[in-house]
Amino acid sequence: MTTPQKWNFGAGPAMIPRPVLERAQADFLNYNSTGVSLMELSHRSDTYEDLNNKAQAQLRQLLDIPSNYKIIFMQGGGHTQFAAVVYNLVAWRHEQNKTLHTKGADTEKWAQIPVDYVVTGSWSAKAAEEARRLGANVRVVCDAKKALGAYTGIPDEATWKTSGPESEYRKSDRAKSQTPAYLYYCDNETVNGVEFPFVPSMHDPAVPLVCDMSSNILSRPVDVSKFGVIYAGAQKNIGPAGVSVVIVREDLLHTSELNDGVMPVPLMLDYKTMVKNNSLYNTPPMFAIYMASLVFDWLLDPAAQRVQDGEKYFEKELVGVQAAAARNERKARKLYKALEESKFCRVVVTDKSARSKMNVPFRMSTAPKDKPDAVANKKEDEAMEAAFVAQAEAKGLLQLAGHRSVGGIRASIYNAMPEEGVDVLIDFLKEFEKQCN
Ligand code: PLP
Repeated sequence: MTTPQKWNFGAGPAMIPRPVLERAQADFLNYNSTGVSLMELSHRSDTYEDLNNKAQAQLRQLLDIPSNYKIIFMQGGGHTQFAAVVYNLVAWRHEQNKTLHTKGADTEKWAQIPVDYVVTGSWSAKAAEEARRLGANVRVVCDAKKALGAYTGIPDEATWKTSGPESEYRKSDRAKSQTPAYLYYCDNETVNGVEFPFVPSMHDPAVPLVCDMSSNILSRPVDVSKFGVIYAGAQKNIGPAGVSVVIVREDLLHTSELNDGVMPVPLMLDYKTMVKNNSLYNTPPMFAIYMASLVFDWLLDPAAQRVQDGEKYFEKELVGVQAAAARNERKARKLYKALEESKFCRVVVTDKSARSKMNVPFRMSTAPKDKPDAVANKKEDEAMEAAFVAQAEAKGLLQLAGHRSVGGIRASIYNAMPEEGVDVLIDFLKEFEKQCN
């Protein structure tokens, strides 16, 4: 394989497969024999439209997206989707209520429709906060920090305060008109390293699931038919920042217009407008979408996947998310094992079933591991972490510092990180420990 000189463990923008970067470099000045760069082409040209359609078809193939789901490319990153899901799905729920409960529905206010959030880390907390800021009726049905003391796992789904189809809550008439617009969660909490090992299933089936998959999309197969909306910013597993992918079930697209009594959806956040215009309502982030398409090509190419594994690690001929999932499984398993076995490292996520395969946060401590209550010397421990990150950097192991809000160390091992990179990190960890002994 083409060994990168540096191993980039950054959480995002993250590593992009080297062959993708090389291909982009080769295309840069003369895209598809047009004689110009893609960035100079009109987004209304056939050439660009072909690319737009190709990228959608590739993503549909990779995630086996059913035909009743639309794929949209949008701008504004994950943060913009925090708002977009509120506007779009509250508008949709309002329409549903209007059909189901003609009387009184017109006076129903946007803010009275509940939106349910499962908060398992800082990104879902931020999404709930944005919905609240927009005036939505936010109900946090599960708060992992409250339940567990910290974001270190996922509380049992049976304890979430969602309304199941059989619950007394659902049976009351009052409750029916208050069916939430959606149930929201974040599949992989990038900062905290908590990843769902399951798809929530105990809520009312009439409530669509909305999922932020920004940091684990394409890392494993997913049954799209269980979701109402899936979205992901590109800058982890898809390509460079600048585009977000939204996968939306078509019956969830609202049809309302201004003055329908619903809060109008800003045009640039409106899934309906984006679908109607095939993501070409305004000038799209063409270069980011082109790069995403190259990443999709890379995932779908058996030869590229074999090269990514390297002969030393190659197990079986797999492509797409199956190849990525097998590799991600191996990488995560060996890294967590090394951290568990290390004298100084503490994996932050204590619930083993919820440990992320993409982002691995850990702390270092000189306090004895077998005595969890032993008083640690915070200053000393932080100095040790800083030395680890600095020495790693000098050896070409980049961006290992934890998120600024939580500190510590975080190794992000997305699809583009080869297994060899994880081995290099583990070797360095062992070397560092020897030196600290
Ligand atoms: N959601 C998740 C899971 C993330 O990891 C991030 C950013 O890292 C975001 C949302 C926010 O994305 P953006 O910076 O593109 O707005």
